[in-house]
Amino acid sequence: MDTVNFDAIVIGAGIAGATVAAALAPTHRIALIEAEEAAGYHSTGRSAASWILNYGPPDVRALTGASRDFLENPPAGFAETPILRRRMNVYLAPADQVGKLDAMLDGVGIREISLAETKTLVPALRDGYAIRAAVEADVFDIDVAVLHQGFLRQARRNGGTLALRSRSMRIERRAGLWHVEVTGGANFAAPILVNAAGAWGDGVASQAGMALLGLVPKRRTGVIVDPAPWQVANWPFVMAADGGWYCRPEARTRLMVSPADATPMPPQDVQPDEFDVAVAIDHMTTALDIAVTRVERSWAGLRTFTTDGSLALGKAGDGYFCCLGQGGYGIQTSPGVGALVAALVMGTNPGYSPEVLAMVDPHRFS
Ligand SMILES: Cc1cc2nc3c(=O)[nH]c(=O)nc-3n(C[C@H](O)[C@H](O)[C@H](O)COP(=O)(O)OP(=O)(O)OC[C@H]3O[C@@H](n4cnc5c(N)ncnc54)[C@H](O)[C@@H]3O)c2cc1C
Repeated sequence: MDTVNFDAIVIGAGIAGATVAAALAPTHRIALIEAEEAAGYHSTGRSAASWILNYGPPDVRALTGASRDFLENPPAGFAETPILRRRMNVYLAPADQVGKLDAMLDGVGIREISLAETKTLVPALRDGYAIRAAVEADVFDIDVAVLHQGFLRQARRNGGTLALRSRSMRIERRAGLWHVEVTGGANFAAPILVNAAGAWGDGVASQAGMALLGLVPKRRTGVIVDPAPWQVANWPFVMAADGGWYCRPEARTRLMVSPADATPMPPQDVQPDEFDVAVAIDHMTTALDIAVTRVERSWAGLRTFTTDGSLALGKAGDGYFCCLGQGGYGIQTSPGVGALVAALVMGTNPGYSPEVLAMVDPHRFS
């Protein structure tokens, strides 16, 4: 088959690849290559969809903060509905977690509240579960579908090509060009290759003959339950101070519960494990007086980490760039990540401190 030439090929059309494609499309002819029938089928379509500033290592916090303005004020035509909706976080500390709560109070905008106030925010809280609690008010739900589609639309409007059902099978660098052959036999060529393949990032690096980062995909489970008769639409996001479980309202009348599991596993179309589902329900019902008679739905997704937990963004070889290791923060950091990787591709100033750039530099693993 003929080879189609582009300025840059981005592999993976989850949130990471979509943001880089959108950021590069005004100046580069982009091919965004996705293995599945739909963009967002893997981690991007399976998240808890929160924006939490006090979360993750310093590079993540910098990128989360830098993404806020875009998420609150996206460019004209990006989204027809708001991307963010404010929903405070409540952290609950049973006796063995007060040390964690104390450490948390060093975070930006986190303050301790009385148990009486906690109970007004979370009326189902069982007496005696928490001995202390805190709130973080500046937290948001993210409409992930609107955000992801906005980036894909931006890329397409600027001439980008989205190739679905196109898994990279062979990647070679010849005469200054990357040649990517995908399932079905189509061939793409470009001087720049961006690896945004999420859990499959090391597999794509291996195809391209580039150094592996040692990425570790970790399963995380979500469970939907009916909390009736509680009316939960305006409840906060509720999390144990040690991060061991959390729940949040979903679609106004339901709760999403997670056991905050992080089980390492190979890249795959991951499915929930019954044990994790049971653990999620057990944690929540120990803390909250909610009778769960039935699990309405459960799912799992992969959160893929580098070995030091920071992201891997930027140049890692001749014309080869990484946008990997998004862990549990890929949605909330996405506008900042896309702009940063695009700046590094274009050789412009990405606008972050040398410390942050060193933390995300993929060369730190070589
Ligand atoms: C339960 C859960 C809760 C989470 N909660 C949050 C949260 O509250 N806030 C937050 O910010 N983040 C959260 N996350 C993390 C977030 O979902 C991820 O960080 C983010 O989706 C990663 O995006 P990605 O584009 O890197 O990966 P993906 O969405 O997995 O995209 C990678 C894409 O690459 C494609 N691909 C792979 N190999 C190839 C190939 N060879 N050729 C072509 N295409 C290929 C895949 O098909 C896939 O579509 C959560 C994750 C989970 C599972």
